[in-house]
Amino acid sequence: MNDASQVYDVVVIGGGPAGLTAAIALAETGAKTALLARRAPYADNRTTALLGASTDLLERLGVWPRCSDHAAALQTMRLVDDTGRLIRAPEVRFDAHEIGIDQFGFNIDNRSLVAALEQRAAELTGLTRLDDEADEIHPEDATVSVRTKQGNLLTTRLVVGADGRHSLSREAAGIDVHRRDLRQSALTFNIAHTRPHKNISTEFHTPQGPCVFVPLAGNRCSVVWVRASKEAERLMALGDEELSEAAEKQSHSIFGRVQVEPGRHLFPLGIERPSQFGKDRVALVGESAHVVPPIGAQGLNMGLRDAADIADIVGQALSRGEDPGSPAVLARYQSARRSDVTSRIFAIDVANRSLLSDFLPMQSARAIGMHLMGSIGPLRRLAMREGLAPSWRRVS
Ligand SMILES: Cc1cc2nc3c(=O)[nH]c(=O)nc-3n(C[C@H](O)[C@H](O)[C@H](O)COP(=O)(O)OP(=O)(O)OC[C@H]3O[C@@H](n4cnc5c(N)ncnc54)[C@H](O)[C@@H]3O)c2cc1C
Repeated sequence: MNDASQVYDVVVIGGGPAGLTAAIALAETGAKTALLARRAPYADNRTTALLGASTDLLERLGVWPRCSDHAAALQTMRLVDDTGRLIRAPEVRFDAHEIGIDQFGFNIDNRSLVAALEQRAAELTGLTRLDDEADEIHPEDATVSVRTKQGNLLTTRLVVGADGRHSLSREAAGIDVHRRDLRQSALTFNIAHTRPHKNISTEFHTPQGPCVFVPLAGNRCSVVWVRASKEAERLMALGDEELSEAAEKQSHSIFGRVQVEPGRHLFPLGIERPSQFGKDRVALVGESAHVVPPIGAQGLNMGLRDAADIADIVGQALSRGEDPGSPAVLARYQSARRSDVTSRIFAIDVANRSLLSDFLPMQSARAIGMHLMGSIGPLRRLAMREGLAPSWRRVS
């Protein structure tokens, strides 16, 4: 198929959770949208802790009812200092009821989430799906031309680059990216256990990074275990029984007997921040726009806010007869996303550095911060609300 005669308002490139959500939200505004993404089963066993506003967005888009059965509510978040250092922070508990909500959000396996997004995308008549990949992207004055691997040519007024860490869209727009390798890796796997998790997500802070046990439906948790890269590789190579024992020890047996389930993955961690979120008729969403380590469950939650914002901004532009790829529209997107993404990358970076630091004053500052958060109600409630979504975009 050669689609050069047809000019789309938007072509979304990349069919991960951020790209699928952006494509659905854009098509729902009435924008003539194409999604250029390979249809492939989701490849790893990761789960995502989706915070309140994210599940609200998925509900509005008709996605959440298709996968909520697979999700577990996150009612309490518990931070435990497991550094074994002289100066240790007290345990801090964040309880959703304290800020008047039943849960902070839900933990769901990415396979179920992506399958629900795919189902919803397939229903939308205003969304053209191309099971292909972008090979070349050329921004021009009035449009962008996208040549696919199968040789088709698409013409669009705006490209939404949801093509992940090695984004071709970002490169085509000439957007620089600042990268830092953290020399830490996250090992992910799921466990079954004998004691109930009571919908409490527990984060053990170790000197090599956090180890988080996030509730899944039933007596199961997903585990994200951040270690120095070499140590993470060692854990990855353990047999099931040895890894079960190691996870039980790391959890201080709070879940009783632990048994790891088949399937584990290792993710080298880094921080990536582009110099701009949009340029030359290309807007970036998801990991093409920000990569953060899995601390505080922020990555995809930010990606879903990118998707919601680009859809709102493009929808409003089209209703006023504006060109959705114009510099003015991209400037609005840039201003909508910059503070949220920059402030969260900063906070996650500081939290990670403070954990790894051998510098005594840094350790004391961290312990004092945690102590204040644990003991001063208004501060704790502020941290909980800010963790869910930036204050300037919350509707009460
Ligand atoms: C261990 C771990 C735990 C995490 N836990 C959480 C959590 O609890 N909560 C949270 O909010 N976030 C979490 N995150 C972050 C979250 O997983 C990511 O933000 C999210 O998966 C990124 O989705 P994406 O759609 O932007 O990118 P991806 O899922 O990488 O999708 C990009 C897609 O683009 C496709 N693509 C690439 N190039 C092209 C091309 N040229 N043409 C067409 N398609 C292309 C790729 O094939 C891929 O399908 C975690 C991350 C890690 C590593």
